[in-house]
Amino acid sequence: MQRQPRGIVCILLSPAMPLDPFEQANQWEQAANVLRAARHVVVFTGAGVSAESGIPTFRDADGLWQEFPPEQFVTWQGLIRTALLRPRRLAAFVQQVIEPIARAEPNAAHRAIERLERHTRVTVVTQNIDGLHEAAGSTTVHAVHGTLFEVVTAQRRFLRLLNRAHLLKMAERLARLRRAWFLPLARVLWTIRPLVGWSWRGFHRPKLVLFGDRLCEPDWSLAVAAIEDCDCVLQIGCSGQVFPAALLTLLAKEQGATVVAIDPNETASDLWLAGAAGEVMPELLHEAFGDSAD
Ligand code: NAD
Repeated sequence: MQRQPRGIVCILLSPAMPLDPFEQANQWEQAANVLRAARHVVVFTGAGVSAESGIPTFRDADGLWQEFPPEQFVTWQGLIRTALLRPRRLAAFVQQVIEPIARAEPNAAHRAIERLERHTRVTVVTQNIDGLHEAAGSTTVHAVHGTLFEVVTAQRRFLRLLNRAHLLKMAERLARLRRAWFLPLARVLWTIRPLVGWSWRGFHRPKLVLFGDRLCEPDWSLAVAAIEDCDCVLQIGCSGQVFPAALLTLLAKEQGATVVAIDPNETASDLWLAGAAGEVMPELLHEAFGDSAD
């Protein structure tokens, strides 16, 4: 197993911390004014922005963690233990992570974020691993938790890219395997070997950040630099409970930027637009700039 690297690591704060309720009146108008006046907007996205593309979040009531507890599936130690003791569960987890991402397309929120570039300078900082901001055409995207589409060595050196078709094929093979009466670990490992396994170059894995891992560089440093320069953060579909990514919002507030949250659930922010990202984001663009392209 990889030695724990030093530096900034990804940690989980759970359970959810209750937030004080705050007033909703005039939030829309204020958010539109802030966006219109902004010189540089950081769009900071979490799993919620892709929920309407069919990719489940982890921590919501219907999220992946209901079936796959994070301590068993989102740490290296937990994953190895699950693989050795319950290979069928490993196959189920990998399939349920990769299949929705392989099938997903950008939704109205991703497209509105891309269109925001017509009106102001935009940097997208995402915790997501689904490549949907890039697919929507956003030009500057820092994926601080990595991407499912890049395979790296144990030292995180680039090895190769995968596309959605590769992932879909793997997911379909896993679905077939799971129907087998007897499923040894070796068959699961053979099926997922393009994504994770061993070759003459040593161990390889997707460029993903599990709990306890370092965040991706240079994405994290570029994200911090963007936050230090921005005057508005649109925080979309982020619970604010995954650290250190959530520190970006705190840093932005310290710098004097206004944080506007778009989320059906209340999160720490200056302004909160309650609702689904795919509905709120195009409407906000319309309110701020008269944009109605979607
Ligand atoms: P998160 O911090 O990303 O929380 C999800 C948030 O999305 C919640 O606050 C929820 O209220 C909100 N949400 C749900 N539906 C929404 C919608 N339609 N519009 C707007 N907001 C909506 O945390 P998580 O789900 O626990 O995930 C933890 C980490 O796992 C993430 O930071 C991410 O790195 C990764 N993850 C990525 C993906 C992806 O790539 N699509 C999916 C799941 C998890």
